Amino acid sequence: MVRLDDTIAALATPAGTAAIALLRISGKDTIAIARALAGRPPAPRVATHLDYRDRHGALLDDVVLTFFQGPRSYTGEDSLEISCHGNPFIAQKILEDLFARGCRPAEPGEFTKRAFLHGRLTLDQAEAVRDLIHARSERALGAAQQQLRGALGRRMAALTDALLGALARVEAYIDFPDEDLPPEDRGALREALEKISADTARLLATQRYGALLRDGIRTVIIGEPNAGKSSLLNRLAGHERALVSPEPGTTRDFIEERVPAGPHWLRLTDTAGLNPAPGPVERLGIAKTRERAAEADLLVLVLDATRPAPPLPPDLAAALRPETTLLVLNKIDLLPGGSVSATHHSVPSLPFVPETITVSALTGAGAESLLAAIVRRADALRADTGEDLVAINARHAHALDRAKSGLGEALAKLSANAPVELLASDLREVLDAFGEISGKVDNEQMLDRLFATFCIGK
Ligand code: GDP
Repeated sequence: MVRLDDTIAALATPAGTAAIALLRISGKDTIAIARALAGRPPAPRVATHLDYRDRHGALLDDVVLTFFQGPRSYTGEDSLEISCHGNPFIAQKILEDLFARGCRPAEPGEFTKRAFLHGRLTLDQAEAVRDLIHARSERALGAAQQQLRGALGRRMAALTDALLGALARVEAYIDFPDEDLPPEDRGALREALEKISADTARLLATQRYGALLRDGIRTVIIGEPNAGKSSLLNRLAGHERALVSPEPGTTRDFIEERVPAGPHWLRLTDTAGLNPAPGPVERLGIAKTRERAAEADLLVLVLDATRPAPPLPPDLAAALRPETTLLVLNKIDLLPGGSVSATHHSVPSLPFVPETITVSALTGAGAESLLAAIVRRADALRADTGEDLVAINARHAHALDRAKSGLGEALAKLSANAPVELLASDLREVLDAFGEISGKVDNEQMLDRLFATFCIGK
């Protein structure tokens, strides 16, 4: 249930030892609490250094208080920030005192939820706040900042405006049951709906890149046993993460590692070697490898450059795509001259010639080129959205999918000369779906689910 009539408090910084810790309060009792702590009414937006004394007058710490008067605050309500020394014990004491003064522990994301409910942020901007906090790469950060500054909101406003125009055209005729849409209106309506539908599809196409920014580039290393897959993961991760062994078949389960890659980050998975004659445990590992490979954004096929390439399992070979496959020829340190001509190293059973990078997991030669190739592939997935970087999330995609099918329905009805009321009802559904993205449409359950994914104190 949404409650806005009480006062919430939480620690906004991580629980741990640090230079400072920040506590936050928001809600109707904030001003009274601030007055009690400072001994006078607080001046808005002025940092005040004072002794924090609990309700019984015991000194807890010296702190800096900053009062924000609603609606000019993050939440849109009166709110207070308290910076204390970054000792979790002190922060906890202050928090307990705030609860004793009538505050309630904030739920995850509740400050941002209040900001949304008070109209300080749209829902897509609130999500951008969450993305901003969790962004692990330059690109993810850039996308979150643009979304927070309304890049997606502006797209949705334009789409909504166009749709309202179309709806007005249709609704004008609802009141005149004897009149049908004149042919020129039908033509203009069709054109408008087709444009809205195409723009919706363009936005939908940014979901893939959005997932890649939020979840990292899912990169799966596959290849024959002993090709150096684990060594490559360790090399890219910059530390010994996976077990390297001269004995084939050492990696039977997955090892996942988060690795920064230029402006992106990777979720790198090392897999069981594709042994042509596997034992029962290895066979299970190989089956799982295929599953992982199917979900991956990129597959890095590692081969030992010193040996002829073995044939790949046919179903895996058939599943590989040129746009998502990179071939890595490893162990070039063992080759005379330290290089290999990629063209001389063709992979049997692969129906295309993949982009090939030569590396030595042992010396690190070629690792940078491999990362650069991965980044290039990832950025190639960025759908063209003009100047603004728009990269939608799964919730937006769900709403846009709904809008897209509504538009399809409306266009079909228009072709079938269906009554205008039916057309209007489809278009209202589309309007509703568009509204979900910014949160114009009331859906309490959805709000609860969404804000539960935030941190406490945000
Ligand atoms: P995996 O089975 O594909 O994961 O292979 P490993 O990473 O366990 O490596 C198998 C063997 O090859 C180990 O003895 C590694 O030290 C060795 N190896 C891996 N990469 C290189 C490389 O670039 N150069 C050389 N000389 N040896 C390597």
